[in-house]
Amino acid sequence: MFETELRHLLLEKGANLVGFSSLGELAPPEFSELKYAVTIVRRLSDTIVKTIEGRPSMMYFHHYRTTNTKLDLLALDAVDFIEEQGYRALPVAASQSTPTDKEAYRGIFPHKTAAVLSGLGFIGKNALFITPEYGSRIRLCTVLTDMPLVAEGPVMQPQCGDCTICKNACPAGAITGALYEYGAPRASILDAKKCSEHMKTYKDIGRGAVCGLCMRACPHNAKPYK
Ligand code: SF4
Ligand code: SF4
Repeated sequence: MFETELRHLLLEKGANLVGFSSLGELAPPEFSELKYAVTIVRRLSDTIVKTIEGRPSMMYFHHYRTTNTKLDLLALDAVDFIEEQGYRALPVAASQSTPTDKEAYRGIFPHKTAAVLSGLGFIGKNALFITPEYGSRIRLCTVLTDMPLVAEGPVMQPQCGDCTICKNACPAGAITGALYEYGAPRASILDAKKCSEHMKTYKDIGRGAVCGLCMRACPHNAKPYK
């Protein structure tokens, strides 16, 4: 099975979790033939996450960028494997920027769409992907492909309950506090513009590209790493 081989390869190279999904109509229109996805998860250092105290830290900014780079390299390993099997593969950058669509605050494909379908976790009220193993302390990337890949678990339902810790922790008032319903617009849980504008207030840290307060606050982070 391709899934078994790919997971083994990516875990060996430093991924923490690997999932697969069939996107169907959710594939990006400009790559609609790439209907399958590999989701790669890297956990963030718990020690560094804890340096976020009331505002992001420079250490967090550096770690965030390094983790994104690691994910992009893991995506290249997945691309090599997929292409060697005779299929097409498109790595979607861990941190996407689309200058032509800045107001939408979106990239070419949302990592969380594939991550949810893979069954690896759920979307919390903080609009982040949350896994049972690592909570909110993760980063994601995706490889789109025409290699037929099947999710190995069911879609997980959001497990926030009545918690509103992230909403209360957000200095921008960007989190609505609503429980996410799959298929609903992101705006139902997050005002992406308010979030982005708030990040820019930390110009002294990473030129205003990170915040992380809602990620830091999530009680799903409590489980220690093995
Ligand atoms: S990253 Fe910061 S500004 Fe954005 S939603 Fe989270 S706490 Fe609010
Ligand atoms: S802080 Fe609470 S409400 Fe927010 S994502 Fe985590 S569990 Fe859900």
